[in-house]
Amino acid sequence: MKTKIIIALGIISTAINFSFAGTIHVVATTQDTRSIAELIGGNKIDVFAIATGYQNPHFVDPKPSYIIKLANADLYITLGLDLESGWSPSLLVSSKNTKIQKGSDGYIDASIGVTLMQVPSSINRSEGDIHAFGNPHYWLDPTNGKTIARNICNGLEKISPENKDFFEANLKTFDAQIDLKLKAWTTAMLSFKGAKVIAYHNEWCYFENRFGLKIVDFMEPKPGIPPTPSQLVKIIKEVKENSIKVIITSPYFTASSSDVVSKQTGAKTLILATSVGAFDSIKNYYDLFDYNIKLLVGALK
Ligand SMILES: [Zn+2]
Repeated sequence: MKTKIIIALGIISTAINFSFAGTIHVVATTQDTRSIAELIGGNKIDVFAIATGYQNPHFVDPKPSYIIKLANADLYITLGLDLESGWSPSLLVSSKNTKIQKGSDGYIDASIGVTLMQVPSSINRSEGDIHAFGNPHYWLDPTNGKTIARNICNGLEKISPENKDFFEANLKTFDAQIDLKLKAWTTAMLSFKGAKVIAYHNEWCYFENRFGLKIVDFMEPKPGIPPTPSQLVKIIKEVKENSIKVIITSPYFTASSSDVVSKQTGAKTLILATSVGAFDSIKNYYDLFDYNIKLLVGALK
């Protein structure tokens, strides 16, 4: 019995020691970075994503099972800024995995090199405390997807230099695919340039900027603060004054307040996808924009 246990332990420790030579274990905080990592890493990696695609990435319950995933990870991909600040740092500390701590080769901050929007000149906590370093919802511009992919590629190459050519080739394919699709997406949105919309949460500025929308106001009076009656009155007035056709929201926000505005004004509430996996048909990062653009074009027509 004892011998069997010792042999079993030996096999387990061998498997752990040599895991590097085989599959690279990646943990991504969201489904979007999971999808991009899979497109770059291909069959050299397996990826576990913590947040689901229909979950608010600001608020994720740090489950013990995530800590086990992190403890066994070779790479950790965070979207950074303060998007996951409520749960990512504590999970990292609990994992006790030195390979993936901030500053280690196995830690990838996907935001490096992204031109950030809405960077405040000073941090005022009374203005809502979740976008303090600039707006963190940058993956909703597909051009930023290319920067994310570059960062992930760099991280993979650091820990697996022998696969550099493979990762670089996949990155090239990804970039070309984004360029090609971006042309189709922007063409589809061209006739709606400057279309005024209301958004629930301040998470669409990169998307707005890329596709030429104009967000007039938010259902949330401040980021992270649910709509108040006075905010609803203000929104209804703005929708009527600007003949706004669309209210953009996400799967994780209650529809009740948007429905009030819809009923009062006739504006349509559109539940767009903020992440891969928000809806079953959105399997990868390309699908995310295919889905949102199609829905918007239909509603703005
Ligand atoms: Zn946010």
